[in-house]
Amino acid sequence: MCEPYVFKPSGNDLRKVMYYHGIPLDDQITCPFHDDNRPSCHIDYESGTFYCFACGVSGDAFEFVKLAYPKLNGIKQLQRYFRILKSKKVKPLKNDNFRASKKRQDKLKNKQYYEDISHDYYYGLKTLDWKKEKGPEQQYLKARGFNSKTMNEFGVKLTLTSKAYPIIFPILDMGNFAGYVCRTMNKNVEKRAKYLYNTGFSRNHTLGGYYKNEVVVLCEGYLDMIKLRQFGLTNVACIFGWKITSKQVDKLKAMGVKTIISALDTDLPGRKGTDYLKNFFNVIRFQFPNGIKDPGELTQELFDTAYKQTKQLYRKMEMSANVNSKQHKTGNQKQRSKQVKNSLHKGRRQSKDPFLEGRGARHRTNNPRQLRKQRQSNMS
Ligand SMILES: [Zn+2]
Repeated sequence: MCEPYVFKPSGNDLRKVMYYHGIPLDDQITCPFHDDNRPSCHIDYESGTFYCFACGVSGDAFEFVKLAYPKLNGIKQLQRYFRILKSKKVKPLKNDNFRASKKRQDKLKNKQYYEDISHDYYYGLKTLDWKKEKGPEQQYLKARGFNSKTMNEFGVKLTLTSKAYPIIFPILDMGNFAGYVCRTMNKNVEKRAKYLYNTGFSRNHTLGGYYKNEVVVLCEGYLDMIKLRQFGLTNVACIFGWKITSKQVDKLKAMGVKTIISALDTDLPGRKGTDYLKNFFNVIRFQFPNGIKDPGELTQELFDTAYKQTKQLYRKMEMSANVNSKQHKTGNQKQRSKQVKNSLHKGRRQSKDPFLEGRGARHRTNNPRQLRKQRQSNMS
């Protein structure tokens, strides 16, 4: 059987499409598809994908053209796309053509509405210092291996109104508030659902954590992510389930992610989810010790060993990738030596610790109060 033909625009195509529309070729642009006053739209030129954190549009160069000409039918859009690729002109689009369609605008408003409500609810709750807390919630989280420093850092609070779900975690997606999740401590409630998300929360286009790096660790749950952060990892994100969504893939690609360390659960769905990731990224399995189901079950000691083994596996993959790319060179001598030099340089740079190193990692904060301050000063 032959493979179905997959139409895949390249990073250069996205560059071309943006250039044609008079959009600056930056990593972050003000989104052309909604009324954006800050640069919410992230671009990765290598994978040729974009993702807007505010309105959620995403995709490749062709998707960009489809969004820019919503009134054209599919074939006309494709024709327009190829014409743009060939063109040498610059033709900025008129606003009314370019802005979100009515349907998308409504969706956007709805999303904003629920986000605002959950935002106000969470920020209205009292900020806690978990070092001083002595209640059952503190003991519960401690028993699950979370220390008070982490709980303070991630802005964990108490709902006060909910008996079934007393502990609340704000969900931060690259530092943007995206909703919240509450955890039950009651075994009977847990049978129905361990977690309660805010109304309007959609896992479809949300990742929890930080993922602006070539190598990112992915896990299933928000608490798994927090646990891995506590263990010392920087670039960790959760996908709120075992199967990544296409929006989540776009989002990771727009942040330049190329390799995933899969710390999805070790059960069957987690293994399936790990295989599924291979459709989009280089994937390495996080080396869980036998009998461990997810990151939440790890201790610092177990994590350290597993992490060391995972890094060794990563080195091996990187080395064989370098060898392969050297074998496949068909270009001229000059090109070849340049390519080899690049891969060597990459190897040297990454041999430090690819998972921990992220651009701007040191300036990261999870503290929702600090984040809000940062955002307010950005806006003014
Ligand atoms: Zn947008």
